[in-house]
Amino acid sequence: MLQKETDVIIVGSGPGGATVARELARSNAGLGITLLEHGRDWRTSPLYGTYPGGMMYTDKASFLTTQEGLSIVRPLLVGGATSMYCGCAARPLPWWNVRYGIDLDATTDQTMAELHIAPLPPALRGTASTRIAAAAADLGLDWQPQEKFMQPERAGDFTCGATCMLGCRCGAKWNAAEYVDEAVQNGIDLWTGAKVERVLVNGGTAVGVWGKWRGKAFAIYAPVVVLAAGGIGTPLILQHTGLTAAGQGMTMDTTVMVYGLAPFKGIGNEPPMTWSYADDDLGVLFSTLIDPWLNYPIVMLRKGPAYPLTWHRWGRTLGVMIKLKDEISGYVRAQKRGFTVSKGLTDHDRQRLAAAEAVAGRILRQAGCDPHTIFTTPLRGTHPSGTVRLGEMLTADLETEIRNLYVCDASVFPEALARPTVLTIIALGKRLAAQLLRKQSTDSTDGTDYDASA
Ligand SMILES: Cc1cc2nc3c(=O)[nH]c(=O)nc-3n(C[C@H](O)[C@H](O)[C@H](O)COP(=O)(O)OP(=O)(O)OC[C@H]3O[C@@H](n4cnc5c(N)ncnc54)[C@H](O)[C@@H]3O)c2cc1C
Repeated sequence: MLQKETDVIIVGSGPGGATVARELARSNAGLGITLLEHGRDWRTSPLYGTYPGGMMYTDKASFLTTQEGLSIVRPLLVGGATSMYCGCAARPLPWWNVRYGIDLDATTDQTMAELHIAPLPPALRGTASTRIAAAAADLGLDWQPQEKFMQPERAGDFTCGATCMLGCRCGAKWNAAEYVDEAVQNGIDLWTGAKVERVLVNGGTAVGVWGKWRGKAFAIYAPVVVLAAGGIGTPLILQHTGLTAAGQGMTMDTTVMVYGLAPFKGIGNEPPMTWSYADDDLGVLFSTLIDPWLNYPIVMLRKGPAYPLTWHRWGRTLGVMIKLKDEISGYVRAQKRGFTVSKGLTDHDRQRLAAAEAVAGRILRQAGCDPHTIFTTPLRGTHPSGTVRLGEMLTADLETEIRNLYVCDASVFPEALARPTVLTIIALGKRLAAQLLRKQSTDSTDGTDYDASA
């Protein structure tokens, strides 16, 4: 068995894990940091950003579904889901502070400045997408340009064409893998292909992790362990560690798209989600989005046999995406082999979704879509989250009941965001890293041994 000792173990290289790794590594605190990532780094592969690539680096080749049939795209690679996200950013809402006492303002401001988060310039927001926003404005809905983790000027040639949802090839979109690169340059040890199964615990304190690296068992020991394996990965590791409450109940920002056929070019080749509108009374985010070309018929098969026949309309399709602030329900459960996810909608969720679909239909009609062509796609789960909820399983410092075992990813959300998640996760990651550094400096002043060999 492979064995190693270090100071801090971080599991998962999505925005949560990458941020903690990057912040600790650049602090000059002299900590040994090991980042364990299940997937590999696909960025230099010719398949990166292609349909076959997208299938290779997602769980179950993108056919992962809940018991109820909701499709979940779960990217497993360096950078986590930011390798396939739409690059949207949203500030954490005031409820983080009001309801949970978590102040994320400073770390959010810092991130927005560092990563130059801003809407795309008007000329790059897409003609048809902008037409949807204008139609919504005619109806009195104040759609706004969506803030983005995208800097077109970073790309030699900004050819987004919405294929960035398979992996950004032009380089405009920020990906958490960039934080991993920076952490590696600052000396962390990155293991790719390393799947953590459980946390090693001694006397109620985390002392390391156990897992498999390319078929070989490993045990890595450290006095601090941070789980950032995502809304599905983290509760599974905790269940294997004996924390059975993990994964009981979850949020998903359950999503549908409402499509309509326009008499002009649709939004399929435009950057995804360039305009948005949040209705926080209804608990819904609206935005501009349709499925990538090859995904369209696959999604439609789940709607019914007649729907894939609408594929030829893809080039003239307009879409309004609806993300619902879904109530906590369902579960992520480890099985003998793998896991199952269950996520239904509550009655209250259904009522709000129906109201949002009616609004989306009105916008599409106003934008010029033929009313007879308007329909809603099947439900999907875009943001598996809220599976290890702050306030229930975690202290405000993101520590579990196992001492020195922390969680920092989408699983900590105490309720659904119904917003892009990544900026919130980065802000949480910076906050946790600062806390760990403060604790380390207090412990070394107190003479508490922070050494892995302890
Ligand atoms: C198609 C799509 C579009 C999206 N668009 C947006 C958007 O525009 N804006 C936005 O803010 N959010 C978006 N999201 C959501 C966002 O990307 C995720 O919510 C976010 O990346 C979650 O971050 P995380 O750190 O919790 O986990 P992840 O990003 O899921 O990272 C977890 C990492 O842990 C690894 N891992 C899992 N299990 C283990 C294990 N046992 N051992 C070791 N490693 C493990 C995984 O391989 C993965 O790399 C989108 C998501 C998808 C799927």
